[in-house]
Amino acid sequence: MTKRVAIVGGGIAGVTAAWQLARMAAEGAAVEAVVFEASERLGGIVETVRRDGFVIECGPDGWVTDKPWARELAGELGLTAEIISSNDATRKTYVLQDGKLVVMPDGMRMMVPKGMAALDGIDASPLFSAEAKTAFRAEVGRAEELKASIPIGDESVASFVARHFGMEVLEKIGAPLLGGVFGGDVTKLSVRAVMGPFVKLEREFGSLVLGMERSSELANQRVSELAGAAALFTSLRGGSGALVERMVEEIPSEWVRLECPVAGVAKKGDGWMVSTAGGTQQFGAVMMAAPVDVARRLIAPSDERAAALMEIEATSAVVAAFAFAGPLELPPGFGFLVPPGSQESRLLAGTFVDQKYPARVPKGGRLVRAFFGGKAADELLGAGDEEIAGLAMAELQRVLGRLPAPVMTVVRRWPRALPQYAVGHLERMAELFARVEAMGGIWLLGNGYRGVGLPDLVRDARAAAREFVAAHPSR
Ligand SMILES: Cc1cc2nc3c(=O)[nH]c(=O)nc-3n(C[C@H](O)[C@H](O)[C@H](O)COP(=O)(O)OP(=O)(O)OC[C@H]3O[C@@H](n4cnc5c(N)ncnc54)[C@H](O)[C@@H]3O)c2cc1C
Repeated sequence: MTKRVAIVGGGIAGVTAAWQLARMAAEGAAVEAVVFEASERLGGIVETVRRDGFVIECGPDGWVTDKPWARELAGELGLTAEIISSNDATRKTYVLQDGKLVVMPDGMRMMVPKGMAALDGIDASPLFSAEAKTAFRAEVGRAEELKASIPIGDESVASFVARHFGMEVLEKIGAPLLGGVFGGDVTKLSVRAVMGPFVKLEREFGSLVLGMERSSELANQRVSELAGAAALFTSLRGGSGALVERMVEEIPSEWVRLECPVAGVAKKGDGWMVSTAGGTQQFGAVMMAAPVDVARRLIAPSDERAAALMEIEATSAVVAAFAFAGPLELPPGFGFLVPPGSQESRLLAGTFVDQKYPARVPKGGRLVRAFFGGKAADELLGAGDEEIAGLAMAELQRVLGRLPAPVMTVVRRWPRALPQYAVGHLERMAELFARVEAMGGIWLLGNGYRGVGLPDLVRDARAAAREFVAAHPSR
């Protein structure tokens, strides 16, 4: 008998689960799915606007190359020829400091120097004070002390980075680097959840600089990066939206219900009842891929403790992209970051899109994206497009100097889109996933749990679909 799966939410997580099920159905698995999506389009935060040769990302503009799962998916979707890499010849990132853009030194992986050689670059950098430079060098000699200071449980990113390199490094580069990705207040973010590889390195080597120098896994990455083999970011020529669009082509259209928010889910016998404004239907399983706030409300009647474990802080993002027709003087590089709480700009970051991905503009075109996060984004959620665009342009000009009038502007608001994995997140998720498994026939997908990046979401959605089919063999 054909098993039916309800997929709640049609962002990248829900669409990937549906696509994987559709592929397996096409290969003979007795399975079908219904994707319930509250809005009028699929993709959620993944949205690409293409106009007049410009490829404008409203949400993610690619993914980190280190994690293979989105690239593998692109390959299976026949998009290999569309895969592009960030233009690492200009891989510079700036930090706004005293009203000026100061380049981050080369050879850093987040706020950690990639080995001893990178320390010379730090010494030469105007970004750090003499004390911070000394702290970077001294970290190597503190290996045993650092090992001894490892806390038994989880700790915040702020505490971890400060133990190794001091507060200045945390404030100048740690906080802005993580703030844009993890909705991050670094004093709350869990180091185990968001900087796992560094925690491992600390356990083995004490010093992170020494660890980066000696760890074979990271050394291999370093070699391939130096050889230019692995760019930092990967994307698709047509934008990350192409991933969703290609998958949607393979999902039977009768599986998709747009503008159909799920109002309730309840376990009944071996299956699940799923309610929308149109009525209640029975399914063999539910893949909950709505934002964690929504998922929490839907799970609460079935398991209050699980819902409590899903209470998670999140920050909003507001994006304004400006396309320019003519020449534009910008510093070479991918863009700039603003330390949170800076009095010098309300922005969290600015991306020089065509310098990061040259394929994103028509000949001669330029593209700059402004990104508000934290408090500034929350304050702007209720503002109109024009007001947001005006403020974003004014803030960009404060940093970059005079800019010409754009030929196109795209504004998007993403309320509570960046969940914050707080200290203890991994333990809470272990308990949550054990409870969810015990309920049976329900999977939690999406960015609230085991990673916020596209590769993580793709990995988990595909795994859930495969698990479901393996548990319900056709013959
Ligand atoms: C500005 C920005 C930039 C980013 N940049 C990057 C990047 O460069 N690289 C990267 O890897 N990641 C990036 N991320 C993170 C990444 O984009 C997200 O984590 C990811 O897209 C989330 O996908 P999702 O499917 O979990 O959730 P969503 O995209 O939020 O999808 C959830 C869907 O559920 C629907 N829904 C809500 N309520 C209901 C309901 N009751 N019933 C049915 N459906 C419902 C929503 O309408 C939505 O479509 C970025 C995020 C933001 C905000």
